[in-house]
Amino acid sequence: MLRSLLISLSKAGWMKRMVMGWGIARRVARRFVAGETLVDALDAVRALNQKGMSATLDQLGEDTTTPGEARATTTQIISILDAIHKSEIRANLSLKLTQIGLALDRDLCAENLRRILTHARELGIFVRVDMEDFGCLEPTLSLYEKMQAEGFNNVGMVIQSYLYRSEADVARLLESQTRIRLVKGAYKESDQVAFPKKADADAAFDRITALLLQASATAGAPIASPDGTWPPIPAIATHDERRVQFALDLAHRLDLPKERMEFQMLYGIRRNLQEALCEQGYPVRIYVPFGTQWYPYFMRRLAERPANLWFFLSSLVRR
Ligand SMILES: Cc1cc2nc3c(=O)[nH]c(=O)nc-3n(C[C@H](O)[C@H](O)[C@H](O)COP(=O)(O)OP(=O)(O)OC[C@H]3O[C@@H](n4cnc5c(N)ncnc54)[C@H](O)[C@@H]3O)c2cc1C
Repeated sequence: MLRSLLISLSKAGWMKRMVMGWGIARRVARRFVAGETLVDALDAVRALNQKGMSATLDQLGEDTTTPGEARATTTQIISILDAIHKSEIRANLSLKLTQIGLALDRDLCAENLRRILTHARELGIFVRVDMEDFGCLEPTLSLYEKMQAEGFNNVGMVIQSYLYRSEADVARLLESQTRIRLVKGAYKESDQVAFPKKADADAAFDRITALLLQASATAGAPIASPDGTWPPIPAIATHDERRVQFALDLAHRLDLPKERMEFQMLYGIRRNLQEALCEQGYPVRIYVPFGTQWYPYFMRRLAERPANLWFFLSSLVRR
């Protein structure tokens, strides 16, 4: 109930204007967001790299409203690729297709994605396409397949375990050795398409983890690159210790070398778990969001954990 309300509010313009006007909200959001500038984000990645973790940089922003804005965002994303390359950090890039025009014009979005992937390929950088709400799923998968057919192999997908169809999607994507980041899913979906109960999404997460690890155990599957830019096939993206333990136990049973899987977590969440896995020698990649458009991302993080909301509300009361 609370989760649904917060996710609905993440799309409400009036709430966005109000919350973004509060200095305290910006300060609380800093727990999850590396900063408002690319320089802030690069500093955060360097600190993670020093601890042995790699990163994926995400310039916050979604639901771009004009073609001009989508093209300008594409140009900014290309400059992030240049910054990753020049600064020699161990990082790749994540993006949302609605940033570059998915909801406006699919041809424009394809053109923008092609520009990004072409430049990323020249620099040897992998690009992860985040998954948004269910309405974006088909167009996102079809754009991915279009790029694959055009010869781009430096792009990967995200699969959300809360969707009924995800196991079938994974089985199909694995046929072409797609690099997949597995997440539980952060949006509000109807029970027509997604498990209403968290326990079912958790169980599906384990089943899909098994599909991914078994695929990775197959000879010839891509591994994590030593320079931190390329992930292996399975990126297990969760802060849930039981899901992590399931993956670790299965990897052990499959005798899977550590570089054939990767754990991913969000900036600022469960740092102890991030560091523990890294110390055990597993590739760990942290999703590092930055930029001024932090509002919807921040609201989804509040929705995931009521304690975050209470912390935010009590900070507001104390100010
Ligand atoms: C690297 C990465 C990329 C992602 N990309 C996408 C994407 O493209 N599309 C998409 O729909 N979703 C994405 N997500 C979000 C994901 O779908 C979940 O909403 C989010 O990860 C919370 O689920 P969980 O697996 O951590 O499990 P949960 O069961 O929700 O949480 C497990 C434990 O993790 C901790 N935790 C979880 N969330 C928080 C929080 N916000 N604040 C503090 N502690 C917390 C708590 O200790 C909690 O008990 C991504 C997540 C990660 C880690």
